[in-house]
Amino acid sequence: MNKKTVKDIGIKGKRVLMRVDFNVPMDKGIVTDDKRIRASLPTIQYVLEQNASLILMSHLGRPKGAGFEPDLSLKPAADALSKLLNKPVKVASDCIGPEVESMAKGLKPGEVLMLENVRFHKQEEKNDTEFAKKLASLGEVYVNDAFGSAHRAHASTEGVAKYLPAVSGFLMEQELEYLSKATMNPERPYVAILGGAKISDKIAVIENLLTKCDTLIVGGGMANTFLAAKGYNMAESLVEASSIETAKKILDNSTEKLLLPVDGVVGNKSDATAQTKVVDVDKVPAGYSMMDIGPKSIDKFSQVLKIAKLVVWNGPLGVFEDPRFSEGTFAIARLLASSGATTVIGGGDSASAVKKAGVAKQMSHVSTGGGASLEFLEGKILPGVAGLKDK
Ligand code: AMP
Repeated sequence: MNKKTVKDIGIKGKRVLMRVDFNVPMDKGIVTDDKRIRASLPTIQYVLEQNASLILMSHLGRPKGAGFEPDLSLKPAADALSKLLNKPVKVASDCIGPEVESMAKGLKPGEVLMLENVRFHKQEEKNDTEFAKKLASLGEVYVNDAFGSAHRAHASTEGVAKYLPAVSGFLMEQELEYLSKATMNPERPYVAILGGAKISDKIAVIENLLTKCDTLIVGGGMANTFLAAKGYNMAESLVEASSIETAKKILDNSTEKLLLPVDGVVGNKSDATAQTKVVDVDKVPAGYSMMDIGPKSIDKFSQVLKIAKLVVWNGPLGVFEDPRFSEGTFAIARLLASSGATTVIGGGDSASAVKKAGVAKQMSHVSTGGGASLEFLEGKILPGVAGLKDK
């Protein structure tokens, strides 16, 4: 990665304004999963060790953008951080304004201030210049560690970087380093795996990855549309009729690189207790949907994955939330865990799938950003990264 990090500029004794992704799940004012907070701890701790003062900003959920909403306050996240750091974390009542300014400027070295949800102001998502300037005025240096929000051109992710020396945090650095392996000089053989529900969301990723990887494995609901494009009758399976023509074109241009399932586990959609069956892709029974890849497909994909040096995976290979249809996804997850390949897992559902399979720790990298990692793999330049200083 060619972006400067917080280690590349002097921050000793400075006021550091840092964008984090504390968009964490909460229940009745308590953080129920602090993974995203922990992910930014190395950067937070480094800043504090430099005797800098730290002003943290984040969004949480989807406020209306019309002022404070108690359910979407970042106070519980600040409390969770305070426990992890074992030191107090001050909480501002807003993210801009005279009171916040005097709190920020009054911070002593090593003190931490959490700003309120930046999305309480509609100017955040509009990337409003004046709002970005007000945020920027709170710090002397800007650090972006919010990879999960880096695909959004918002005031706290993109706007602020125009008004302060802007560098990346360590989480951002790690995300970019691993995801760059998929797009620049990848180790070979390089296998990409794409799954998930819809092909229409991922056409740009398919097209970009096909120019980079040696083999592209497609599973999940997406594969159904490809199989329909090949002329198979997919019965009640999730097939996107509007994407069949695109799928045909992709298949015509990449027959050798693209691997599709040869069998699958079908289920009766309207009856959760109905029996499931394993069938070849040309024998999906009437009334049934293809919900997972089958044993022959697992075997076929394994042959390629066994010799891969780099594997990038985005999207589950079946409806893994339902134990009847999780084996395909979990079997591939286990295989990756025991392979010697560099394994990079996109965020969102793929991250929860490897976690559910119990092998998240064995992966080289599990991204914290679903949408951001997908846009990165599409080959887009992320706005939250573009404005950071080059090395
Ligand atoms: P995405 O957000 O596009 O990555 O889609 C993830 C969702 O795709 C998960 O909730 C899976 O249950 C769903 N999915 C995976 N395989 C299939 C399938 N064969 N049919 C329908 N949905 C699927």
